[in-house]
Amino acid sequence: MITLNAHAKINLSLDVLSKRQDGYHNLKMIMQTLQLHDTITIQEIKSGIEIECEAAYVPNNSSNIAYKAAEKMVVKYGLDAGVRISIDKKIPVAAGLAGGSTDAAAVLKGVNSLFKLGLDQQELMEIGKTIGADIPYCIRGGTALAEGIGELITPLPRMEPIPVLLVKPRFGVSTASVFKSLEIDKITDRPKTELLINALQRKDTHFIANNLCNVLESVTAARYPLIDKIKKDLITKGAIGSIMSGSGPTVFGLFDDTEVAKKAFGILKKSRNDCILTYITND
Ligand code: ATP
Repeated sequence: MITLNAHAKINLSLDVLSKRQDGYHNLKMIMQTLQLHDTITIQEIKSGIEIECEAAYVPNNSSNIAYKAAEKMVVKYGLDAGVRISIDKKIPVAAGLAGGSTDAAAVLKGVNSLFKLGLDQQELMEIGKTIGADIPYCIRGGTALAEGIGELITPLPRMEPIPVLLVKPRFGVSTASVFKSLEIDKITDRPKTELLINALQRKDTHFIANNLCNVLESVTAARYPLIDKIKKDLITKGAIGSIMSGSGPTVFGLFDDTEVAKKAFGILKKSRNDCILTYITND
């Protein structure tokens, strides 16, 4: 039996460069791991794949992406056994935090260890990308640039650990529907990706916080005015920067002071009954 932490991510930036012939989009994103994580337990059983997760809206069958990851490993490596996967879900579902992708990444790593397959990180990332575009990033984690459809990963200097407040409205958002509504030629405000990378190199957290940018935000915010209200709330309560993560609806605020962040957490927890709040650090 093996137990692994599957970490959530936020996007410090998200740019959509073009739409591809196959329907996917070419992206350029800076990803950052959070302390927030699901816990995945993987156990060897005689045959087949079993999955259990008590969280609402997470499938307990072959449509769970963690199941697909296990199935891929069992078939690809001809394992003469099955696996039972148990997911203790702490990452909000359909939230823009890569909850499913990170579970799948943990399953690939866990099966590799449990059955002593000896695959290195690059090999696991190659398998991961055949299951989902965000999985290669989730296998590596940390601070990274993700390009292509999200699967081409370049490690970046680690972002300094700072307080992060996640504010997740009590509804989920379908990533596919957000991309469908995006009009790429009408995007005016794009992330300054190279400048953000320079800021990571010189550990300039304030530059990063001032230049957070996600081109999907206006699409989700047009549907849900709550997104802009949360951003305003976070800035008013002392966040040094705030944007929506991924396709949303989670909005995060970055803070440079633990006490200010904790106070904001306390106030918003009371005033924002329409959201789930999480106080953590990146890293
Ligand atoms: P991303 O940030 O990669 O776009 P997300 O955080 O917005 O992903 P997920 O939490 O991965 O979204 O959930 C998207 C959908 O995937 C949900 O509707 C859920 O039913 C389904 N799903 C399948 N497997 C899982 C899993 N292991 N954990 C969470 N959701 C899962």
